[in-house]
Amino acid sequence: MALLQISEPGMSTAPHQHRLAVGIDLGTTNSLVATVRSGSPEVLSDENGRSLLPSIVRYLPNGHANIGYKAHAHRTTDPKNTIVSVKRFMGRGLKDIAHVENLPYDFVDGGREGGHGMVQIRTVAGVKSPVEVSAQILATLRQRAEDSLGDELVGAVITVPAYFDDAQRQATKDAAQLAGLNVLRLLSEPTAAAIAYGLDHAKEGVYAVYDLGGGTFDISILKLSKGVFEVLSTGGDSALGGDDFDQRLFCYITEQAKLAPLSEEDTATLMVKARQAKELLSTNDETTVEAILKSGEIVQVTVSAETFTEITKHLVVKTMNAIRKAMRDANVSVEDVDGVVMVGGATRMPQVRRAVSEFFKTIPHANIDPDRVVALGAAIQANLLAGNRAPGDDWLLLDVTPLSLGIETMGGLVEKIIPRNSTIPVARAQEFTTFKDGQTAMAIHVVQGERELVSDSRSLARFELRGIPPMAAGAARIRVTYQVDADGLLSVSAREARSGVEASITVKPSYGLGDDEIARMLQESYTSAQGDMQMRALREEQVEAERILLATQSALGEDKDLLSGEEQGAIAKLMDDVREAVARSNDQSQDTGARQDVLHNAVQALARGTEEFAARRMDKSVRKALAGKSLDQV
Ligand code: ADP
Ligand code: MG
Repeated sequence: MALLQISEPGMSTAPHQHRLAVGIDLGTTNSLVATVRSGSPEVLSDENGRSLLPSIVRYLPNGHANIGYKAHAHRTTDPKNTIVSVKRFMGRGLKDIAHVENLPYDFVDGGREGGHGMVQIRTVAGVKSPVEVSAQILATLRQRAEDSLGDELVGAVITVPAYFDDAQRQATKDAAQLAGLNVLRLLSEPTAAAIAYGLDHAKEGVYAVYDLGGGTFDISILKLSKGVFEVLSTGGDSALGGDDFDQRLFCYITEQAKLAPLSEEDTATLMVKARQAKELLSTNDETTVEAILKSGEIVQVTVSAETFTEITKHLVVKTMNAIRKAMRDANVSVEDVDGVVMVGGATRMPQVRRAVSEFFKTIPHANIDPDRVVALGAAIQANLLAGNRAPGDDWLLLDVTPLSLGIETMGGLVEKIIPRNSTIPVARAQEFTTFKDGQTAMAIHVVQGERELVSDSRSLARFELRGIPPMAAGAARIRVTYQVDADGLLSVSAREARSGVEASITVKPSYGLGDDEIARMLQESYTSAQGDMQMRALREEQVEAERILLATQSALGEDKDLLSGEEQGAIAKLMDDVREAVARSNDQSQDTGARQDVLHNAVQALARGTEEFAARRMDKSVRKALAGKSLDQV
């Protein structure tokens, strides 16, 4: 029989058990897929070594589709069937889409033709929803990942803009499902970028993420505390991006070359040239745009970086205004910002970097390729969620438990197992033992809240662990594990170590709990913290009193003969004192602290009064164990 290896708790599983997961940046202009291999994230390329996949789908009369570069080539020749920037339509109705009249598509109002309100597009291959179009892009990336990794994926983290609403997020999830992907989580793009830069390991702080893509500009202000990113504000301009810089350069070239109004085809040709020139100017002081137009005209215009900066200045200023607004909304000033992250291919333009540096008075993080950074961060997150956790990795996750999850212990007290604000998924275990000799069952009561007493907490579930073999009180070892998964689902299991008996239950902790109620429960815990602590101390003392009474009783039952009559009387008296103190400790007219003091003194007196008895019992059991053995045998 083969021996199975079991990894040590907290250690990652063997390399061949690495669970393949990817991060996908589903962009407006370009999409990418990345994964973590041998501990570091990398973007996966297609068979031609290209990492970007243009987010473009062209539908063909035979029902098939071209995706990416193949579709890109037909943007101008077959615009009606070549869908670009489909991300703008995700989860949107026709009325939500800006400048519909300028778009080349044959839109179908989703509200009318059973599209659940989402706009649809009529193509040669039939009516397509934005979800289907996005699914084509996702399926292409999934195929790329499976080809290069040589195995099936367990899941993907897909990024979405921080401002995406429920409908847009749901549409993204639906697209992933349609593409056969298991969505581990949707992650906001700025958070993914911050993760790629390892800011989640940084000290707490406020970060600005400046994302200038092809057609959109997003600014997000994030706050990191305890490994959790919170989006303080988002802003930007959904109609401002690298394309506008192309447009400016195009106009400049036509002016300089004194060109007459161009045909559609010539416009397209020159636009491509303008874009290439823009990208070259990010690393060159000047470039020359050369083209031979269909009209026969020869274009040759030299553009310097300085000129380019000048003619696009107003675009950069626009982004600065949006930053100011987002900072106001987040209620932070430039001095509060601990770091700035650059995202999006268009942030390669030096004039953009300079402006951002000047604004924040700091050098932004830009050493990771700005069009890959989001996918890389998503890959890191996916790797964690798939369970490929290296020793020492934190659970740097984005959702937290709103309230503590605990268990009821003796005396109606709450023992917190997963503290409030723990990032999920999270698992914590704690060991408990039996209170009474021969106890064969244990009642497990799962509670939620910040208070010390069960009666002040929210009861989530109860279950019993039965079949514990009878043992002396305190001998059983019952491990209770609380586990909250990424969707906030709590499962609790209890297992007795010697016998292996086990029981478990699953609950939804947030079920029926609104934000108001969470706020109320937190408020209560603050205002009653002092009283709670005293009450807890009293309850603990009561439990201790019960325990020592039971233990003394059972010792007397076994070894009364070790004590003289007088000694027995003294212990009986001390036990009576404890019993009386227990009874009086429930008298609510007395101060909690005072009741605890009286009880504490009585318990201590009994403990001291039985020390000698305990020592004699110990002697006796040692003698018994050694009986018939010589000293060197032991
Ligand atoms: P999105 O997030 O919208 O999908 P990207 O982050 O991929 O977009 O950015 C695409 C934009 O970045 C395009 O306008 C492209 O021209 C621009 N871009 C890419 N490389 C450069 C470069 N070297 N210099 C300037 N702009 C660039
Ligand atoms: Mg992007």
